Amino acid sequence: MSIDFNLLDVRVDMKAIRANFKLLRRHGKRCMAVVKADGYGHGLLETARGLSLDGVRQFAVGAVSEGVRLREAGLPGVILSLLGPQDIREAKAAAGQNLLPLIYRMDQLQMMAEATAGRPQQIALKLDTGMRRLGFDLSEVRALCEQLTRLKNLEPILAMSHLACADVPEEEPFVREQAAIFQECRTIFERHGISMEYSIANSAATLAYPDLHFDLQRPGIAMYGANPFHGTDWEVNGKGLKPTMTVNAPVLQVHPLKAGESISYGRTYTAETDRMVAIVALGYADNFSRGLTNKGALCLHSKRAPILGRVCMQLTAVDVTDIPETQPGDRAWVLGGTGQGAISCHDLSEWWGTIPYEVFCLLGQNRRG
Ligand SMILES: *Cc1c(COP(=O)(O)O)cnc(C)c1O
Repeated sequence: MSIDFNLLDVRVDMKAIRANFKLLRRHGKRCMAVVKADGYGHGLLETARGLSLDGVRQFAVGAVSEGVRLREAGLPGVILSLLGPQDIREAKAAAGQNLLPLIYRMDQLQMMAEATAGRPQQIALKLDTGMRRLGFDLSEVRALCEQLTRLKNLEPILAMSHLACADVPEEEPFVREQAAIFQECRTIFERHGISMEYSIANSAATLAYPDLHFDLQRPGIAMYGANPFHGTDWEVNGKGLKPTMTVNAPVLQVHPLKAGESISYGRTYTAETDRMVAIVALGYADNFSRGLTNKGALCLHSKRAPILGRVCMQLTAVDVTDIPETQPGDRAWVLGGTGQGAISCHDLSEWWGTIPYEVFCLLGQNRRG
């Protein structure tokens, strides 16, 4: 038997994820659910299973191994592996589990052909239209077509590309440039008699660029409740998304901090007036960044309790002078909470100096199985 000390508590609201996905499906008619990186920290199997209750049959994972996990758990439908096969063993695993491997190098094509030894195998192709990360670029598409014509057992069914700044309104011209290059690639494939489905839209483009929906959309972050347009002029495009992750930790002690006293390592905070502080069981060992030292707040009793001094490995101090009802055992909210003081993923990521994606991935690592 294991003892559950119930310190950091991470909860995922599957109903909210499902509601967000339904909202996205009203924009993009054929959305593939992106569940890579453990469902952005929300749980790979849990998220995929929850969505499959609503008939979702298309999922994108990162590594082939993530796809294998989904298949072994009995998940039906299309499972696209965004990182593609890395070696012949992974190529065989992808084929054996009927995954859809994403191919972005010529040698991966050869590897897939070898792994499948002449048996029919569907593949997806990644095109680089300006992200300059993974993919074949426009100048390689002709050679790619010729190679595909030679490797007859490989059947490309999806061509996709990724947008670098669909969530930045001022960058619309670059979004359009990428889409135009994507179209050019498509024309070349069609001229070679290769017929596939096309996909370029992430969450931001699913919400704000209906003309770039092509055949399939690939929303991730919006499904997890973050508005890709938060803080921009296009914010309204992401309205109605619900928070999906909450995180709280217990208060271990409450005590006064007198004027002139400092708190925590390095004495980076000294009280100017008499304060009351709460010590919370939360720290950088829980992936709560030490960069939040003297920044941001936790939510206690529907109010904001500002962080005081250095965030430690397993402890963080907050100012509860204005929340006198605070006592040991209370739950302090890192993400979520009630009333005016509730903390959104946008609040937390701004204090943290990052984006909701990273906040979810890092805090989600504290989820209990
Ligand atoms: C992560 C990812 C997505 C989802 O992007 P969001 O911004 O989270 O919607 C879509 N496509 C690819 C290739 C990705 O890697």
